[in-house]
Amino acid sequence: MADLIGLPAPPAVGASALPAGTYEDACVFVTGAGTGLGKAIASEFARLGAAIVIGSRKEEHLQAGRDAIDALGARVLAVRCDIREPESVAAAFDAAEAEFGLPGVLVNNAAANFPVPAEDMSPNAWRTVVDITLNGTFFCAREFGRRHLVAGTPGSIINVGASYAWTGGPGFVHSAAAKAGVKNLTESLAVEWGPYGIQVNGLVPGLFPHEDMTSDIRGNIDRTHDKDRTQPALRVGQRQELGWAATFLASPYARFISGHTLVVDGANWQRRSLTNPAVETVRDQMGRGPFDPNPPR
Ligand code: NAP
Repeated sequence: MADLIGLPAPPAVGASALPAGTYEDACVFVTGAGTGLGKAIASEFARLGAAIVIGSRKEEHLQAGRDAIDALGARVLAVRCDIREPESVAAAFDAAEAEFGLPGVLVNNAAANFPVPAEDMSPNAWRTVVDITLNGTFFCAREFGRRHLVAGTPGSIINVGASYAWTGGPGFVHSAAAKAGVKNLTESLAVEWGPYGIQVNGLVPGLFPHEDMTSDIRGNIDRTHDKDRTQPALRVGQRQELGWAATFLASPYARFISGHTLVVDGANWQRRSLTNPAVETVRDQMGRGPFDPNPPR
């Protein structure tokens, strides 16, 4: 039998399939680009000549994003912005326009998430994740769309999703429901705004571990000691692979692709077993004891 080799490794960071300067005169607004995957996506646009606008809440994240784009020699503006607040989103777009002109690309990357059994979830936790992931994505898209409609200019929106939008996400019921909404609004907006020249697509990462992951998410994936062996590709994703997909989707070479959600996960979400593994509750997987509706404070 042949050795198991998995999917080949990608080219190294710094390579690109798109021509140099593809985004030379463009401004790209990426929410949550001070950390993890947002930073990686912004970096690929920057390598292709884009001016980058980063929107997020925390100064240390804004600074990290600024430093990453500066290091690539690209122009960058980092704006404090809470995507749950439409006024804050509008102010960030005002700042972006004043610095670079209206962004031609919006990447809705910011989201919030942590694993929790559904029965333990507080209403506040549910509201917070849905507010950031679903409402925040719509508020940013709305601001971008309205400005382009007024200007009469085309644009491209990429909504970063998750594959449990299709399958449900045990242990992540809030995030999965919100991402299902993100996938659905991607499809609605693509149809509504196509006539105005605005493409709207989704981009779904598979497992892309990175050093900025929150302790909750890190703790969850650390339950598996060999992450590569959990994937049909026999490896996790490398961040540049997601960035390349984003730069392609917003490029002139993908103008007729709209309303589509592209999954970059080495086929992990289609995975089924020939024999079903035994069912284990989310509580057991997380090492939680029996459900207590009134836990001691
Ligand atoms: P991350 O490092 O936790 O980044 C989330 C970003 O969102 C942070 O930069 C955060 O910045 C920003 N953010 C959160 N709430 C915000 C708010 N209210 N307003 C503005 N910005 C806010 O996550 P990641 O792993 O890079 O994930 C990026 C995207 O990929 C997310 O949409 C996630 O759902 C998706 N995804 C990731 C994976 C993976 O394996 N990593 C897998 C599937 C899907 P501030 O704290 O500064 O606001």
